[in-house]
Amino acid sequence: MPKFQIMQANITDTIVALATANGAGAIAVIRLSGEQSIEIANSVFKSAVNTKSLIDKATHTISLGDVMDGDRIIDRALFSVFKNPQSYTGEHVVEISCHGSVYIQQQIIQLLITKGARMATPGEFTMRAYLNGKMDLAQAEAVADLISANSSASHQTAMQQMRGGFSMDLSNLREELIHFAAMIELELDFSEEDVEFADRSELNNLLNKLDKSLKYLSDSFALGHVIKEGIPVAIVGEPNVGKSTLLNALLNEERAIVSDIEGTTRDTIEDELILDGISYRFIDTAGIRKTEDTIESIGIQKTFEKIETSRVVLYMMDAQKLAEKQEVYLNEIKEISAKYTGKLFIPILNKVDVLEGQTPEALSQLEHFIGLSAKQKAGVEQLTDLLTSLIQTGALTNNDTIVTNTRHYEALIQALEYVRKTKDGLQMSIPGDLLAMDIRQALFHLGEITGNIDIDEDILGKIFSSFCIGK
Ligand code: GDP
Repeated sequence: MPKFQIMQANITDTIVALATANGAGAIAVIRLSGEQSIEIANSVFKSAVNTKSLIDKATHTISLGDVMDGDRIIDRALFSVFKNPQSYTGEHVVEISCHGSVYIQQQIIQLLITKGARMATPGEFTMRAYLNGKMDLAQAEAVADLISANSSASHQTAMQQMRGGFSMDLSNLREELIHFAAMIELELDFSEEDVEFADRSELNNLLNKLDKSLKYLSDSFALGHVIKEGIPVAIVGEPNVGKSTLLNALLNEERAIVSDIEGTTRDTIEDELILDGISYRFIDTAGIRKTEDTIESIGIQKTFEKIETSRVVLYMMDAQKLAEKQEVYLNEIKEISAKYTGKLFIPILNKVDVLEGQTPEALSQLEHFIGLSAKQKAGVEQLTDLLTSLIQTGALTNNDTIVTNTRHYEALIQALEYVRKTKDGLQMSIPGDLLAMDIRQALFHLGEITGNIDIDEDILGKIFSSFCIGK
């Protein structure tokens, strides 16, 4: 595990923070970690049952006692002792479960600070866990994702990453590649003799395996990212087609503004909906208008931009206007689906309640076509079912590794680039020293993910600063 000169100075401190949420609650947990944590906790502890001190307690024991500021009792609390290395951080840890008033929390934390602890920075407990080899960097990052997970899919991917699935895959391949790098470097020492320690065809096999894995992992980011952030869905259609009404029906509440007057729909409506454990983020519902008017063309431009950033497009048509608009609709559908081939495109005919006669064949034959009445909430379920079945969630149910973190994605892309460079080099029989350089680069980028290499202190700071204090 990497060690950091600058951080080493800090890592001997004993840190303290509130581990539970800010504000009052039934109980609050205050956590101490560091060499002095048991002594510091003991200096404010008075057993409620005997005269034993916390220092004599075995690891993983809980003691009832008063929190004492001199002669003054602040609270009666439970003191849980975890001894190095069997703790979250790998250091001595004491968790004080006290009554959850904000006043008590503050009094106890202040008291512990006067006894020698220092306030923890965001994520510092987890950073220590990483620095002490309790988890690798990708696992540590998953802790933050786990805490902020708000849907079952994001919870599942974070849990999987925290348990190390992703890291295992990578470190095995990395180990094999290190072996080859060492062999090739050894050849360089014997360059006079023209020997080959590294079997080129085996190396090629390994590179192909790596290429496949890295490609798979980096491809999974497209899904992973949207699982974490929500799948962006654009609802597009002319004013009054019923976009807001549909959104309301989907969200099952009157949040968006519904109005009869054209153009009164708010420019941007962002809302989140969780269906079958996947979160969807509805972006901008501003209308598509085919018109000569320049200001309105800007609106169209904006709609296209929204489609650009979305993954699913709900294209809405108005059954009331079919007679005059059908051709326009069909043309736009053609245009949009040709332009954005990678997106899930769902043509929706709204207001079918007013339809006299059948839905025209030209529409009902469109792929994924749905006819519904947003106002009467009829057919809306058909839409949510379609979404759930079409969003490719196979990887989720298979428990496959899914990359959700942008930093990991970037490192994977870089690693893949160097793996491919090495493959090309191998093919062109470039000299061993150049080959070794490309392999080292690939190794470096793989190591960036799990933290097997020295990670820049700034990067570490950035990673952990997104955590909450106390984690
Ligand atoms: P937006 O401008 O596209 O957001 O459209 P709105 O959701 O504001 O709806 C415009 C009008 O169409 C409102 O008066 C809605 O009540 C009406 N509307 C929406 N959906 C339906 C529907 O399924 N059937 C009928 N008959 N009217 C609807």
